Amino acid sequence: MKVPLLDVNAQNLPLGKELQDAFAQVLSSGQFIMGPQVEAFEMECAKLLGVKHALACSSGTDALLLALMALGIGAGDEVIVPTFTFFASAGSIARCGATPVFVDVCPVCFNIDTRKAAAKITGKTKAIMPVHLFGQSCDMDAVRELADQHGLHVIEDCAQAIGSQYKGRSCGSMGDFGAYSFFPSKNLGGFGDGGLLVTNNDELADMARMMRNHGSKPKYYHSVIGGNFRMDTVQAALLRVKSLRYDSYTAGRRNNADYYTRALLQLPGVVQADPAHCKCVDSQRQWLDDNDAAIVLPVAYAHNFPIWNQYTIRVLGAGKRDALKTHLLAYGIGCEVYYPLTMDQQECFAYTDDFCRSDCEVAHQLANEVLSIPIYAELSTQQMEAVVAAISDFLA
Ligand SMILES: *Cc1c(COP(=O)(O)O)cnc(C)c1O
Repeated sequence: MKVPLLDVNAQNLPLGKELQDAFAQVLSSGQFIMGPQVEAFEMECAKLLGVKHALACSSGTDALLLALMALGIGAGDEVIVPTFTFFASAGSIARCGATPVFVDVCPVCFNIDTRKAAAKITGKTKAIMPVHLFGQSCDMDAVRELADQHGLHVIEDCAQAIGSQYKGRSCGSMGDFGAYSFFPSKNLGGFGDGGLLVTNNDELADMARMMRNHGSKPKYYHSVIGGNFRMDTVQAALLRVKSLRYDSYTAGRRNNADYYTRALLQLPGVVQADPAHCKCVDSQRQWLDDNDAAIVLPVAYAHNFPIWNQYTIRVLGAGKRDALKTHLLAYGIGCEVYYPLTMDQQECFAYTDDFCRSDCEVAHQLANEVLSIPIYAELSTQQMEAVVAAISDFLA
């Protein structure tokens, strides 16, 4: 049985009629830039996420860039960012002229290791950008403590974590800004590029709103330099159809994650990561050895409400991850490595100094071990059975 890594049609095509109506409404309105559809979408997002201000943007990447620009971060500034993330987190920092300082991650939750982050703060550090990778929140108490102690801004990269929660609070609502993405592979997948920037701070919201539109206020008068970071009206209208169903998408992914965890734990050599080892690399390594672990399953921390943008397993042993990937693809099962290179290993960041790139061993190891398997909401039980059977075959 073929199981694609993601099937956007399974989610979108049943909504065809409503999407076409939404498109027709924008078409006949003749308004294609901003307007009531965008405003309505922003209000719905603000409500969904429990924040004061939500700004629809051209992409998740642009939302991150806009946040950095609105905070006045630029040349000479350093921004702390996990090295194990999608490129946009680090790229947006470099694009506004600041220096990304890469920090290692935790082998259990895959998120920034705040203890190692503390060692990388200098007099030039202006902000920290935690990334809620694969849909699970970072340790936000530790991030906040670090930020408050050193007077840093916090920009949450929530591209993979819309609706995800930490101790009952939405990811994206705990920093100065939260940035989300509606790229089709994200949990609220759009019809092209789109993003969202949220904040609870009125002044930052004003600045970001102005900079989203070239820094123009009033029209044709520019006291600051912004860009064009607007979301298309048609994108907002289409996304509104899907945001109504957002809870069911999350529920589907959470059910699928539970299914995998239950089924895969029956297989020999499969263990589930233990939050007791969060940021404790040596104790985890010992525990994996003691248990003869071959595959480590991801785990939801008790205080988190993850949305499972990815279900990412670790395949231990040299070359084993690539062997499992080849094996699954031969069975017609989609899978992907997020991410094969860490940010400190990227050629384009070779210009940064040793301080920016040192001490990232856990992330380097993860880049060789991680494999994400299909987790999208519309997967059938038979499809998940096929994934589990193929992994079982590999382990046999
Ligand atoms: C997808 C993603 C982004 C960028 O979002 P786009 O909408 O594709 O620009 C940023 N950060 C992370 C962690 C992502 O996964």
